[in-house]
Amino acid sequence: MLKKNEIYTAEIIDYTTEGSGVCKIEGITVFVPSSAVGDTAEVKILKTAKAYAFGKIERLITPSENRICPDCDVYQKCGGCSFRHISYSSELRFKQKRVYDALTRIGGVSGELIGEIIGSDRSDNYRNKAQLPVTKDKDGHICTGFFAPRSHRVIPNEDCRLQAGIFSAAEKNFIEWAEKYKIAPYDEINHTGVLRHLYLRYAEKTQQLMVCIVINAMSMKHENELVEMLRSEIPELDTVVININTDKTNVITGKKCRTIFGRGFITDELCGLLFRISPLSFYQVNRSQAERLYNIAADLADLSSDDLLIDMYCGTGTIGLSMADRVSSLIGVEIIPQAIEDAKRNAAENNITNAEFICSDASAAAKELLQRKLKPDCVILDPPRKGCDSSLISAVSEMSPERIVYVSCDPATLARDVKRFAEYGYALKKAVPVDMFPRTPHVETVVLITKK
Ligand code: SAH
Repeated sequence: MLKKNEIYTAEIIDYTTEGSGVCKIEGITVFVPSSAVGDTAEVKILKTAKAYAFGKIERLITPSENRICPDCDVYQKCGGCSFRHISYSSELRFKQKRVYDALTRIGGVSGELIGEIIGSDRSDNYRNKAQLPVTKDKDGHICTGFFAPRSHRVIPNEDCRLQAGIFSAAEKNFIEWAEKYKIAPYDEINHTGVLRHLYLRYAEKTQQLMVCIVINAMSMKHENELVEMLRSEIPELDTVVININTDKTNVITGKKCRTIFGRGFITDELCGLLFRISPLSFYQVNRSQAERLYNIAADLADLSSDDLLIDMYCGTGTIGLSMADRVSSLIGVEIIPQAIEDAKRNAAENNITNAEFICSDASAAAKELLQRKLKPDCVILDPPRKGCDSSLISAVSEMSPERIVYVSCDPATLARDVKRFAEYGYALKKAVPVDMFPRTPHVETVVLITKK
């Protein structure tokens, strides 16, 4: 039994799926945040449970050769990055191993079918979206930042290294304006104050910036002054939107938006198509890596001009629409009505006329398409982290497509679903891990599943 506050010498041997280091002490698994595989350290036990414990590095005896100096002042406090203390190449190795382990152990896949992970060209400044809580710092100054891990304490940071460089200028101007006109930040506990979140989005290819202020009120004083200030300081400013969220909730945005400058949306180019990005619509946060991901998916889909392509969990239609010119027809399925509206408009604005979009739960739509006796040649699946329902897997298998391209943001649920597809006579042909979110523990995988 490990004792609280006791110090033990141990070597860090692995990372958890959340990116915390792991060691074994007296047979017990101990989680040690901010440690690196290969570290030998004195670990102080902070908390014990039956089968595991939490600890922290008290003294580093031999640092891992993968360690680098974290280049961010708030890295240890902020919940944004998990891997700013190890080299990007060792982070990629960990992500590769995570996909490999899940697919081979849970999915029963043979290791040689798993390709090399595709790293991101940039491991910093890749995020085109930031939702920054607004608060006051200990000196009473208005600030923006990120929540500390598992808490609602804001760690002030005007210069996050993960986000688009232009966001720092927007944060600086916004804070100056809020201080000047004494607009109160939102107080979660008392449900008072106005400014909840500064929400920024940047269309990198077209260089259009959206500033959205989420407020706990129907309107906000000195809106025009804010617009004027941002316009004079940031030439890329394209639109300013107020989002109203007066609920007592952790959900960041409310349903209502009011545009106070510009069109209320920005437009970005992805895979040669134009996509409209409004405050409430989904768009991939790492644009250049999303293009790579879609290109890999297209290669695996190996489409031809008389194919019927189904894009399940299509969001605003981006994956399917980027492949529409290679197929005879495209059907997109998505559960959120607004995303489906966006998908239809995205098709129209790009003069794509062979696409149909259905607003429905994916499993229900799969059953309906089966009843319509549709025979897709290829089905794309891009579900959220929990993966696909078993009823979706059976309905898709029954439609009997030649190829299934599964884009996954969770290796464990992907592996489980690959195994389920195997029961219907499908086998994984190829897997490609793709790093969309450097410095965080998340990893995407694209796989091709074909009939055995
Ligand atoms: N393919 C898109 C979006 C992927 S995110 C892109 O690359 O941009 C996953 C999507 O699945 C989200 O848009 C989410 O709203 C949708 N979704 C979640 N559960 C669903 C369900 N049961 N049926 C259909 N769509 C669902």
